[in-house]
Amino acid sequence: MRHQTHPVKIGNVTLGGSAPIVVQSMTNTDTADVIRSTKQITELYRAGSELVRITVNNEDAAKAVPEIRERLLEMDCDVPLIGDFHFNGHKLLEKYPACAEALAKYRINPGNVGRGKKRDEQFSQMIEIACRYDKPVRIGVNWGSLDQELLAKKLDENAKLETPKELPEITHDALIESALTSAARAEEIGLGKNQIILSCKMSGVQDLIKVYTDLAAQSDYALHLGLTEAGMGSKGIVASTAALAVLLQQGIGDTIRISLTPEPGGERTQEVIVAQEILQTLGLRSFTPAVVACPGCGRTSSDYFQHLAKDIQTYLRHKMPEWRKQYHGVEEMTVAVMGCVVNGPGESKHANIGISLPGTGERPVAPVYIDGEKDVTLKGDHIAEEFQVMVESYVKKHYQ
Ligand code: SF4
Repeated sequence: MRHQTHPVKIGNVTLGGSAPIVVQSMTNTDTADVIRSTKQITELYRAGSELVRITVNNEDAAKAVPEIRERLLEMDCDVPLIGDFHFNGHKLLEKYPACAEALAKYRINPGNVGRGKKRDEQFSQMIEIACRYDKPVRIGVNWGSLDQELLAKKLDENAKLETPKELPEITHDALIESALTSAARAEEIGLGKNQIILSCKMSGVQDLIKVYTDLAAQSDYALHLGLTEAGMGSKGIVASTAALAVLLQQGIGDTIRISLTPEPGGERTQEVIVAQEILQTLGLRSFTPAVVACPGCGRTSSDYFQHLAKDIQTYLRHKMPEWRKQYHGVEEMTVAVMGCVVNGPGESKHANIGISLPGTGERPVAPVYIDGEKDVTLKGDHIAEEFQVMVESYVKKHYQ
């Protein structure tokens, strides 16, 4: 059962309530570099990111935001942009109204809006601007930038307890308190419950699960999920998946972002693909036809079938931006690419379309199954190309 939250409208996207869980991402370009930022935003959007966050860290970045918005619209990319503000957001939003207007949502980190009396003033100023421009806000708490005064207060209170809590538990409580008191303050100033999203990000899997489980039990604001500083490669993917799968399975989370460190020269879009795959694997949403492929074993004498599985997967992803608009339901399709006769025909029959390649010692032929029935047997040097043509023709015939 999905945890009930208030729906929030961000530009043309709704999250929370009964809306599908939204995939979002963040750029790593210098926002002031309009050309590179616009290019990366369109890449993230084309990969399937439904919201894109950009850092607005200085005056040049604030000046660039309306131009980026305009260029994106000229390229038919209406993805809502979220401005990420720390330390000087109150000044930038006040001084650059075109930036405040062009953004569809503001992200405010209560731990980074100022110290002491200034913290409350500057936080209030940003919320007033959000009210003025009718923009939703994510109150995004992060344990790496947790409000230190609040943490010190919680530690003092804890020291007076008969049975003091351990530090991790106090940190969890402080994160939640920071988010909830900031949200209450934002509501007092005039922001509606349907304009507030909360996040409490941590980098430890068990910490994140605990904090979000408690946060969901204490509030009905829309929730943004993500493991912060997840890391690189398989470590980042596995850690994010482990944490988010547990929470999503409990019905917690309205939007997700995967904070992967890209490999040098790697694609930023990988974080979008991982987010989609988590949601699709859990059966919560479908984005791209699934490729079912066996791991291969001693019965596969060459890497031919690995190449075919990879090529088909790449081809399907490449086609999706166009197919999504033309062929309704194509994202539910399954394509099997199997390495030999042991499980090949059986798995291929379960897929919409599947191919069973010849294993070692088998006849060099590849039967193709369509909707459970053997259709043709491919042979020769062009099996991969012919199978791709068959997949395309299946899509055109079965999805309108
Ligand atoms: S389907 Fe064949 S090649 Fe693939 S893992 Fe099973 S036995 Fe090995």
